[in-house]
Amino acid sequence: MTPRDKLESIAINLWWSWDPEARALFRRLNPEVYRASDNNPQAALATADEAVLDDPAFQDDIDTVYDRYRDYMERDSHVEDAPETAYFCMEYGLHESLSLYSGGLGVLAGDHAKAASDLGLPFTGIGLFLREGYFRQSFDANGWQESTYPVLDPAKHPVSLVSKGGGDPLTVTVPIGTHAIEVRAWKVALGRTDLYLLDTDFDANPEDFRPLTRRLYQGGDYERIRQELVLGIGGLRMLRALETEPAVYHANEGHCAFLMLELLRERLAAGDDQETAEAWVRNRSVFTTHTPVMAGHDHFAPDLFTEAMAGFRDQINLSNHDLLSYGRVHPDDHEETFTMTVLGLKLSRAANGVSKLNGHVARQQWEDLYPDCSLEEVPIDSITNGVHLPTWTAGPARDFLADHIHNDLTMSQDSDQWGGLADLSDETLWNYRCSLRERLLDYVEGKVQAQSLPMHPDLDPEALTIGFARRFATYKRAPLIFRDRERARALFADTDRPIQLLYAGKAHPADDGGKRFIQRIYEISQTAGFEGKVVFLEGYDMEIGRMLVSGCDVWLNNPRRPLEASGTSGQKVAAHGGLNLSVLDGWWPEGYNGDNGWAIGPEPTGDYGEADPAVQDEQDAAALYRQLEEHVIPTFYDRGADGLPSAWIDMMREAMTGLPAPFSAKRMVLKYVEEVYRNDG
Ligand SMILES: *Cc1c(COP(=O)(O)O)cnc(C)c1O
Repeated sequence: MTPRDKLESIAINLWWSWDPEARALFRRLNPEVYRASDNNPQAALATADEAVLDDPAFQDDIDTVYDRYRDYMERDSHVEDAPETAYFCMEYGLHESLSLYSGGLGVLAGDHAKAASDLGLPFTGIGLFLREGYFRQSFDANGWQESTYPVLDPAKHPVSLVSKGGGDPLTVTVPIGTHAIEVRAWKVALGRTDLYLLDTDFDANPEDFRPLTRRLYQGGDYERIRQELVLGIGGLRMLRALETEPAVYHANEGHCAFLMLELLRERLAAGDDQETAEAWVRNRSVFTTHTPVMAGHDHFAPDLFTEAMAGFRDQINLSNHDLLSYGRVHPDDHEETFTMTVLGLKLSRAANGVSKLNGHVARQQWEDLYPDCSLEEVPIDSITNGVHLPTWTAGPARDFLADHIHNDLTMSQDSDQWGGLADLSDETLWNYRCSLRERLLDYVEGKVQAQSLPMHPDLDPEALTIGFARRFATYKRAPLIFRDRERARALFADTDRPIQLLYAGKAHPADDGGKRFIQRIYEISQTAGFEGKVVFLEGYDMEIGRMLVSGCDVWLNNPRRPLEASGTSGQKVAAHGGLNLSVLDGWWPEGYNGDNGWAIGPEPTGDYGEADPAVQDEQDAAALYRQLEEHVIPTFYDRGADGLPSAWIDMMREAMTGLPAPFSAKRMVLKYVEEVYRNDG
């Protein structure tokens, strides 16, 4: 194989998205094109500088990466006799060049699939071919968010249209209302795992139906239910057209739960009675819920549901009432909407929330569905989310960790390996931290040059650097730190103990509250006392995410309890020596041990029914200021004779040794296999 052949075979498998050396090869081929294409290897390869390709040293590097890729693809499965699993999710965060995600749910699904590949599990993902993605963020002159929808060109990305024996595209038909819609699929190779992305946007379909799969979370319920029919029913039909018969179907969040109705239809068509068919479906389906607010669960008015399901109802041969019953807590309440989570709970054998606290909240939410159970007996368990360390660990951090713990981060779930970091000297750990911070600040200086929202960062490479990047859903309260503006100004004005705060995030295009949050942060960033030190990075994506979680000293997370089901961005910082400063919501009550970061506000009580949001905001803001004033800033600037903040470094050691392994996607996926996918019951 020529060096180019080797690069071509690497470029078409997203394995490169969790191998920084592979990514570096493509960048070297054509740095400008690579950057302009959101780090797309195929774009760089198509415009490669031949002189670089001819360089023998570069060719040696290609050989090294290629050999590692081949070894990865051929290595043995890590888990014996894992059941074959099909995983359904509305969104996937795989890499910034494929805009198939809006935030944490998608990134979690991508991380889950990548960890399944690392472990060599028999695992197939199903999602949507979101050609126009979520949206690209820009701003008008007033700092008001605007959206554009660049269209993904499949010819320039590692996706291939699935065909029948090399000929015409493989298609399946999905009944939507009274129409029969054709669905095709694009395959993405994700290491050893395949992901199929469903697509209705081609000429076999009427104009009205072509946009169904184009965009993520846009439009109203009318579009949403139709999109979810494509995902659930189309996804299962596509698996059948591919001649697969998985043992387990995992619906990740309610959007894809129609897959369970399609399984039911298959069994009824095979001659089972309804009860037998339901038992069969339940025996093979598992469900994960992420939604701690009742209104957040996808739900559809009975009329809308009945209209969208007309064709499917004819195929499944059940009454409207029977179909509606699967999505209702009280089937005879004719007003009750059809809720996707209820469907997922009713037709699965195992259900879970995504942190211990979230499991508890989910049991409270759905208690009525299980009238014979006490609250603690409600059969919704929890598996706490984790992050795919190879994806989220910065290249230089990876080299450092390879020297000190393990040379293969895909195999780094063992806590003992991380324990080795405890022996490193203060100086070694501090140099690590400072070099990652400096790398981030360089990146920020370059990045803001190209954005529509004017920013003039004046960042200090030695200053305490705080990060906040995630979706700008209002419950996450991005501007909470500015609630008392004068108290915040005093923190930013202290030139002896400087702090700086980096933001990134997108508000949903229909969420004016979230857009006002960004606008407020923008205004503050232009105000004396904050200018240069509060910086908003435009166009939040996985690249900005990777940079911020690796470089920040402190990761700020202040959601309104108990609305953060898990949160995962804070899990990405620990391997880089970053410390969490977080409300005790989602995963943090499990991660926080008193010495590895800070808590904002009270211990979780598990019961938030009566909490007044304005009171909570006031209390949490006060708690945040106290932590910053009394602990975070003093600890960072309390330097010994050697110039090092030893108490801070002790906390880093505690976080770096204790958090990465238990909050890794590898630990999470192994738990799913052992506790959920295996059906020993
Ligand atoms: C990790 C990650 C998230 C999750 O953030 P949380 O709000 O902490 O759950 C969202 N978006 C991107 C791009 C991420 O990488």
